[in-house]
Amino acid sequence: MRAIVIGSGPAGLYASLTASRHSKVTLIEENEKLGGICVLYGCIPSKAMFHPVNLMGSLGKFRPKEVDLTELQEIGREAANRVSKGVEYLLESHGIEVISGVAKLGNGEVRVGTQSYPYDSVVVATGTSKPKVQGTVASDELPYIEFKGKRVIVIGGGAGGIEFAWFLSQVGAEVHVVESSNSLLQGNDLDISNAVKSNFIRKGIKLHLGLKAVKTEGGKVELSDGSILESDLTLFTFGRRPNVDGLGLELNGKYLRVDSRMKTSSEAVYGAGDVTGTFTAHEAIHQGIVAGANAVGEKWEYNGSIVPKIIYSKPEIATIGKLEGKSVKVSYSSLPRAVADRETEGFLKIYYEGENIVGGAIYGERAEEIATIIGLVIQWKIRMEDLFRYHFPHPSYMELIWEAVGRVLGYLN
Ligand SMILES: Cc1cc2nc3c(=O)[nH]c(=O)nc-3n(C[C@H](O)[C@H](O)[C@H](O)COP(=O)(O)OP(=O)(O)OC[C@H]3O[C@@H](n4cnc5c(N)ncnc54)[C@H](O)[C@@H]3O)c2cc1C
Repeated sequence: MRAIVIGSGPAGLYASLTASRHSKVTLIEENEKLGGICVLYGCIPSKAMFHPVNLMGSLGKFRPKEVDLTELQEIGREAANRVSKGVEYLLESHGIEVISGVAKLGNGEVRVGTQSYPYDSVVVATGTSKPKVQGTVASDELPYIEFKGKRVIVIGGGAGGIEFAWFLSQVGAEVHVVESSNSLLQGNDLDISNAVKSNFIRKGIKLHLGLKAVKTEGGKVELSDGSILESDLTLFTFGRRPNVDGLGLELNGKYLRVDSRMKTSSEAVYGAGDVTGTFTAHEAIHQGIVAGANAVGEKWEYNGSIVPKIIYSKPEIATIGKLEGKSVKVSYSSLPRAVADRETEGFLKIYYEGENIVGGAIYGERAEEIATIIGLVIQWKIRMEDLFRYHFPHPSYMELIWEAVGRVLGYLN
């Protein structure tokens, strides 16, 4: 049996590893390095660049005066290379054959240049491509560009826009954010969106809300109200396109159509990751596992109902589950651990129905971990009464969950 996986991002990697338990696997990747957007341009280099800046944010008066973006870019590239090497090693150690080239699909075979590869099953994990907008740089290019100057315009006030606007403002840039809707993080929890807005204003980040960038060229950005901003770098942070060309597969809108087993409407062809319309590496990983298992005859279903969404700025932002209905909000300001660490900006908001938590919105230190725990609580239906009896460590940021639950249950009012 031979399974072919197209793409070496998180979806392709995990599809390959999973399928290799029962089948010979060939992975085809067009980039000379392995790991996809996540490893080479997205999750890994960005978080590596953000980490020192995040630590600096905690240092208060001990914070160094100057930060060198070039050094941070080097740190980002180094992390990307190391993780990419790790991907190479993982594939090799599982006996997975890696072929370099652009894969095309048709007539029961995969073609790479003049070579044809017959298959028993295929997993398409081709991800997305960056937007190509004249006069702008896509956010995934940031670790690789030379940037001299100070003025930055970030187009887009969604998750990517928030991360990069925060980061660049912390390395000394004068940052403008242009966003067509009237708020940052449109569609997110309203308290989070408002908190980010005030935080950005305090940091001196200029917001241009309710306005579109209509023209971007020669270091100038024209906005829909006719005003013109000048920039040394214009970062475009949304509008990625799924890589579906040359595959001949049925689409759902612009994305690959798949069912809950990650099967496309073509015989023996599965799809996983961003090409199906998801946006995070953890969704790509889990879809990859399901697609890889089903491609070699197992029967797995994908459930993406409880997925943490994290924005790695400082304060960190995380949401999980349903963000509607009854809620209670607790602040970091009086949390002993937050006071000790001087990380008192932020809040946790839990949403609940009956005896259970159904969602959470967190703005503050360790938001990622808090959302992960809330996700487990939701997924395994742990009742708030039981949660209140659990010993959360003291002093910890996790105590916010305990406090919120105690308030809902009336034990801490
Ligand atoms: C700047 C940035 C920061 C991000 N940060 C985070 C984060 O912190 N956390 C998070 O969860 N997500 C983050 N993401 C999103 C994350 O990168 C994606 O969700 C994830 O990479 C999707 O994985 P994938 O395997 O579906 O696709 P990809 O990672 O895009 O991989 C697809 C692979 O397929 C290859 N390919 C495409 N077509 C072909 C073909 N025809 N033949 C051969 N090979 C092909 C591509 O070269 C690529 O290597 C970020 C994205 C960006 C841009």
